[in-house]
This record gives sequence, C-alpha cells and structure tokens, in this order.
Amino acid sequence: MSPDRLEQLSVMGLPVHRSQNYVGWLLSNLRQGMGAHIVTLNAEMSMQADRNPDLRKIIQSADLVIPDGSGIVLYFRLQGKRIQRCPGIELAAELLQQAQAGESVFFYGGAPGVADSAMQVWQQRLPNLAIAGVQHGYLTAQQQPALRQRLKTLQPKLIFVGLGVPRQEFWIAQHRHLCSRAIWVGVGGSFDIWSGTKARAPAWFCNNHLEWLYRLYQEPWRWRRMLSLPHFAWRAFTYNRP
Ligand code: UDP
Repeated sequence: MSPDRLEQLSVMGLPVHRSQNYVGWLLSNLRQGMGAHIVTLNAEMSMQADRNPDLRKIIQSADLVIPDGSGIVLYFRLQGKRIQRCPGIELAAELLQQAQAGESVFFYGGAPGVADSAMQVWQQRLPNLAIAGVQHGYLTAQQQPALRQRLKTLQPKLIFVGLGVPRQEFWIAQHRHLCSRAIWVGVGGSFDIWSGTKARAPAWFCNNHLEWLYRLYQEPWRWRRMLSLPHFAWRAFTYNRP
C-alpha cells in the first residue's frame, strides 16, 4: 500500500511537505508497515544541498521534508503560501510520546554519554517507552559493522540519528535498508538538548524567527555558518529566475 500523498511545496528545487499533522501521517504509515526517511530542512541545509548534489538527491528522495527553519517558512510566506514551522526536535519528541508498545526506539549520535542521558530523560518521562538501544556518534570505521548488526537484529521502529548535517543524512540513506519499516529521522543536536548538554533558545526567540540569533550568542564560533541565512534568502528568490 502506498502512503497518502502529502502536499508538496518547493524551495530551490528541494521539496517541503505541508501538513497539519506530520506525526499522524508518519505513524499511520508506520502502522501499515511502511518506513520513512525524514529530513528537517532549514536555510543552512538548503545551501549545503545547493553545493552538494549527493545531499540534494537524498533530500529530494526523502519521504517527508519538514520546514524546520524560520528561513524556509518566511520564504513561503513571502510568496503567499502559509506553512507552519515544525522544528525537528519537536517532531521527534512527539513521535516518542505517541509511540505504542512494541514501537521501539534507537538513538545514534552525539558525544559519548549524551544520547544515553537523553534516553534516560525520556525513560523517566515515558516509563512505557520501548528502548531498543543507544549508540554514541563517534564510532570508528571498524566499529560500524557491529552497529549495523545491532540495528538489523533489533529492528527498532523509530531511529533518531544525530550526527549533524549532512553526515546524518548520508548515514541514513546508506543504512535505512537495514530497517526498512522504521521511521528514520536526522535529529542534529537534539540529544544535546534533551540531555541538558546544550540549551534550546527560549520560546520568544523561536516564535519571532530569531532562534539563529540565540545560537549565535551561545556558539559565536558558528558565525560563518549563519551567513548561509542571507545567502539562502538571495538564492531562494533568484532560483529559476534569469
Ligand atoms: N556528532 C556526532 N558524530 C560526529 C560529529 C558530530 O555524533 O562525527 C554530533 C555532535 O556531537 C552533535 C550533533 O552531531 O551532538 C549535531 O551537531 P551540530 O549541533 O553541529 O548539528 P547541526 O547543527 O549540524 O545539525
């Protein structure tokens, strides 16, 4: 059975899906035995995809691309297309909250100990959460086959990969066949936030499209990465226009 189609918008040749209920769509597919790769798109990732055709292809073939960043949402709004921002960390949290018995969860990524703490936090909040396993994100090439084997054996249903962009997208694209009926999400730094290693921007910043400003204040060495925002604005509006 094929999944219900989602309405698809486009920015710089990349898809962005519009829905009022991404989690409902994902869980309904999961419960019909269909896996999915979810990409959480923001301006920085769009710019990376513009330079990297392999990343671009992965985003184009993802089952669900959600508007994670304010830049993406503002781009569509300026074109008169309303779309609600959906931060990846919130989508991932909601998936955990709605997971049923038997829908087990695997966290992969982050510095040693971080994903473990994140999982403990979730276990305390959701005592019935079925935990398949946890793996930090700094494995050597020699250690990778053991992780592959674990995933193959465990067959978790929710697999969150927090290796940063684009490493996590490439990793998911290469490995999703191991658990073809799972939901695979690239979650960036979500384990850092759930574990309390890093703080998320206060709601006021998020609601006013200023999460990037808070991140800049927290991690000033990222200033160069922030330049992708004005680059994105320019590129998105001139894309396909002579
Ligand atoms: N990370 C990892 N393995 C690596 C490189 C990074 O597990 O080889 C983790 C890092 O510890 C952090 C996460 O990737 O928890 C996301 O990093 P960042 O905040 O840079 O993510 P982005 O903003 O690029 O999504």
